[in-house]
Amino acid sequence: MIKLENIIYQLSNLHQLTFEVTDACNLRCKYCGYGEFYDDYDKRENKMMSVDAALKLIDYLAALWNSEQNSSAKRNVYISFYGGEPLLNMPFIETIVRYMERLDCPHRSFTFSMTTNALLLHRDMDFLVKHRFNTLISLDGNEYNTSYRLDKAGYPAFPRVIKNVNVLREKYPDYFEQYVDFNAVLHNRNSVEEIYRFIKDKYNKTPSIGELNNMGIRPDKVELFQQTYRNSSESLHQSEHYEAIEQDMFMKTGSYQSVAIFLHQYGGSTYRDYTDLLFDSTAVKHIPTGTCLPFGKKMFVTVNGKILPCERIGHQFALGSVSEAGVQLDMQAIADKYNAYYDKMERQCSKCHNTRACIQCVFNLVDLESNPVCYGFMNKQDFEAYKAAQMDFLRKHPEDYYRIMEEVIVE
Ligand code: SF4
Ligand code: SF4
Repeated sequence: MIKLENIIYQLSNLHQLTFEVTDACNLRCKYCGYGEFYDDYDKRENKMMSVDAALKLIDYLAALWNSEQNSSAKRNVYISFYGGEPLLNMPFIETIVRYMERLDCPHRSFTFSMTTNALLLHRDMDFLVKHRFNTLISLDGNEYNTSYRLDKAGYPAFPRVIKNVNVLREKYPDYFEQYVDFNAVLHNRNSVEEIYRFIKDKYNKTPSIGELNNMGIRPDKVELFQQTYRNSSESLHQSEHYEAIEQDMFMKTGSYQSVAIFLHQYGGSTYRDYTDLLFDSTAVKHIPTGTCLPFGKKMFVTVNGKILPCERIGHQFALGSVSEAGVQLDMQAIADKYNAYYDKMERQCSKCHNTRACIQCVFNLVDLESNPVCYGFMNKQDFEAYKAAQMDFLRKHPEDYYRIMEEVIVE
């Protein structure tokens, strides 16, 4: 059961606040999560997020960060800008950055981050460098690999993106080395190996590679979606040098993520806090599903002021809102909502053998409001097979046991 106090605690110790600063974009990528495949998002209307609403939310959170509920002596909070294309709303970003840098919040430091398609990077790079933004650039590999990324007139983004990225690297080599990363989408015009090779050879960076979101697909687009979709684990294993790529990508691959969760949950030597250390973890009752606690990972605010627990779930699951008039967050209602979802899942999860390492988010279950079914359910036999696969991976990569235990931080 989640209680009101749990939500106040998560907000008071928030890790990341992400603003969807605009729903406008200067590209029309074919597979975009706000594009033709999907119907679970608010209509895109080229809006810009209200600065006044954002400042209301920051003040609301700052009051919690300065309150007794804050248990962190000093914590870094990521302030992230997301779109659409965030660089289309630079006035918003500049105002928020200035505001955060002057905010009276002695127990917090702030780090800025952004995901951008880099089309306007030539115009705004000085600002990003000055404020030490962690900049994640979207690029799907070489020219053909990136050919789903087109502008409104149908021209490819690739040549302009490469030109801008090269200017950034030449003008600010230290910044580029330390603060810039790449993010690619896997589809039927690229592969894990091609993406990895292009970005590694050209920029000496290890890219993050994501799959197309398979939730919220419009029924009339299912066939086209399936033609475009590629599974990242399959693509990785089809690579000629997959072992080397997998090792270099490490926690950016499903195999390492899976074995890390397995070790942290079942290895018997990971303790999140003193309670974990002092009590028998097998006797602790787990909350159904692997959903993060509300605001346990971040807070995401849409351009329309909807407040969500992250950007990866449908806008229909908004937990509250913010406008120039103020913040609307009914924490008891949020707790009740989560508990109602957990109640629905309790019957399945209580029989599932993998409750401890579950990563299934409740908001990504089909038919959540009526009769949700989890396709990740594991009976005893499934769980033994899962355990054997993780142990087999560790037997083949014994050195990775230490790497995971020493390098991967559990939050
Ligand atoms: S997808 Fe679900 S579990 Fe993951 S961060 Fe978002 S709300 Fe939390
Ligand atoms: S995998 Fe599915 S059934 Fe198993 S604990 Fe997670 S949500 Fe519940």
